[in-house]
Amino acid sequence: MDVTGTHIWYYFICKREVWLIAHNIAADQDDENMDIGRFINEQTYQRNKQEVLIGNIKVDRVRREDGQLVIGEVKKSSRYLESSRYQLLYYLQTLKKMGIVARGELLFPEEKRRETVELTSEAERQLDRAVEEIRIIARHPVPPLPEKISFCRNCAYREYCWAEG
Ligand code: SF4
Repeated sequence: MDVTGTHIWYYFICKREVWLIAHNIAADQDDENMDIGRFINEQTYQRNKQEVLIGNIKVDRVRREDGQLVIGEVKKSSRYLESSRYQLLYYLQTLKKMGIVARGELLFPEEKRRETVELTSEAERQLDRAVEEIRIIARHPVPPLPEKISFCRNCAYREYCWAEG
């Protein structure tokens, strides 16, 4: 199974959602978050986006600084910071495997905030663990049990997980 930035993003929010996405379980058709990709997109700051495709990675900004490539992800808010951080780290790791050394920048224009993201060996170990666990979760015949988290309110699967609750 190809692990994508979307899997990584959800892994740090809800492992059950990783399973549901990996199994192409259709979310509630009437839900405004029905399109899984759309939610992440809505978390992304659309204005002045200049998406660049590198291999199979789509990044928002690319520039050079002091001879080093800087990959920028522009987000609407820092609410899902850990997920955004690891998604960007995953891009950096994928680029590294292509022989491209880069550093990352998370940009939150509405908060006038910027965060540098560096691919350390500890971050790579965490990512490797996440990728391995995503594959294990996806191979399971049933999804992990739901856990009520604040994200459930925005989740297209909330009827699926909490219809009884
Ligand atoms: S509703 Fe909550 S538990 Fe269910 S998939 Fe979404 S975030 Fe996960």
